[in-house]
Amino acid sequence: MLNGATAVVTGAGRGLGRAEALELARLGANVVVNDYGRPGRDGSGETSAAPAEEVAAEIRAAGGRATAHCGDVSDFEQARELVQLAVDTYGALDVLVNNAGILRDRMVFSMTEDEWDAVVRVHLKGHFNTTRFAAAHWRDRSKAAGGAPVHGRIVNTSSEAFLAGSAGQPNYAAAKGGIVGLTTSTAAALGKYGVTANAICPRARTRMTEDVFGAAVAGGGTDPLAPGHVSPLVAYLASRAAGRITGQVFVVHGGLVAVMERPRVGALFEAKGERFAAEELDATLTPYYAERAEGEGFAAPEVLRLRRGQRG
Ligand code: NAD
Repeated sequence: MLNGATAVVTGAGRGLGRAEALELARLGANVVVNDYGRPGRDGSGETSAAPAEEVAAEIRAAGGRATAHCGDVSDFEQARELVQLAVDTYGALDVLVNNAGILRDRMVFSMTEDEWDAVVRVHLKGHFNTTRFAAAHWRDRSKAAGGAPVHGRIVNTSSEAFLAGSAGQPNYAAAKGGIVGLTTSTAAALGKYGVTANAICPRARTRMTEDVFGAAVAGGGTDPLAPGHVSPLVAYLASRAAGRITGQVFVVHGGLVAVMERPRVGALFEAKGERFAAEELDATLTPYYAERAEGEGFAAPEVLRLRRGQRG
């Protein structure tokens, strides 16, 4: 499905990004594996390779084509280098999977400025940085081809934490909501060049979520929270077959894919005169909200209960 295409996957040294890089390579893509992880030391004191290099080597050992990029996507210049590395190594970029991320969870009343800045910087700015340079590459390529569309695909990584309004993750939920805004804006801006942009809200057992989901049950068959349940959707969205799919948000885990509905107008009220006064809004909105379930807002916590075998 991806023969000859070149993909960048950020934060692909482990977890979901690694599974996505392996799946893209399995389907024939050249993969630039990015991660900011540095070489480490194992128990015996031996130095192990940087995570990005390990995954690139794993892809090559399986007969695929891959190059490592050890760099920080939240740094504008390093993101430029990442996109340039793909173009210099394989001749062009076709697929950008923005996946790199970190957590700094804390309730909003206790959160430090550094915890806020770090998460918004890696997720939201990190997504923008790579998108910025990939988009310029695709626009240039399309112009050079007399305006013909290119095969450009962006898959961004949002989260159910945004959809559900995760109380202990104000920085993360905000950054992930921003990523949906970036996705729909990018889809609108780049459609005329043949570029799609979509966002996934994955769920998987990784280093990031080991405190929440715990370890997989040994001998329990296929783990429904294995990252391999997410990577096929990313690969499909990266392919030519998904050319009509753009500006979408998907929830994906454990053998299910949910297409999220776009926001709809829930109720519409009109002022009697030219504009509403606060008293008139009180007379209009207070009875309306009295009829609604208390605390029900824009967030959709019911997505957290999606299971196989249940439709709706
Ligand atoms: P993970 O910690 O296993 O992997 C994240 C990778 O990103 C790590 O290898 C890390 O080194 C890398 N990274 C972090 N900051 C980076 C930076 N600035 N530049 C380059 N690489 C960087 O976590 P994961 O669970 O695989 O998460 C991947 C993505 O999926 C994240 O965006 C996360 O928010 C999102 N997500 C995960 C889940 C889940 O259930 N695991 C749920 C919702 C969203």
